[in-house]
Amino acid sequence: MNELHEGKRPSEPRKVFGYPGGAGGDGLVEARQRLPLDKLMASYGLACPTGRKTDFVCPFCKKKKASLREHNGRLWFKCFNPGCSSGTYAPHSAFDEVRFIGFKLGLSHTNGRPGQYSDAAIAFMKEAGVWQER
Ligand SMILES: [Zn+2]
Repeated sequence: MNELHEGKRPSEPRKVFGYPGGAGGDGLVEARQRLPLDKLMASYGLACPTGRKTDFVCPFCKKKKASLREHNGRLWFKCFNPGCSSGTYAPHSAFDEVRFIGFKLGLSHTNGRPGQYSDAAIAFMKEAGVWQER
């Protein structure tokens, strides 16, 4: 009955349709399981040493001030060198996967709206292989 309308693109933003679960689904959860922060950073040539979680050599500034911690089941990278190019020294600036991708690719991690992912979140899900274009 709605056949006439099927050829017409709905006005909803494309981002809503990017992941099978939809925005608010588990796209980011699955992406983090597949490509956690340490693996993601290593894929950009910014490997953190395994087995050491604090005071290791920062892959950005090479100072022994970086940390990779698990908090609430997620990994966070922070460098305690105020001059570090990662910019993670400032409060609430630690990288999760989405912030890291946003930093590396120059994408916003805050431009998502209710029902939509941010540009950085989409880029991350693409890298993790959980994003499906429709
Ligand atoms: Zn650093």
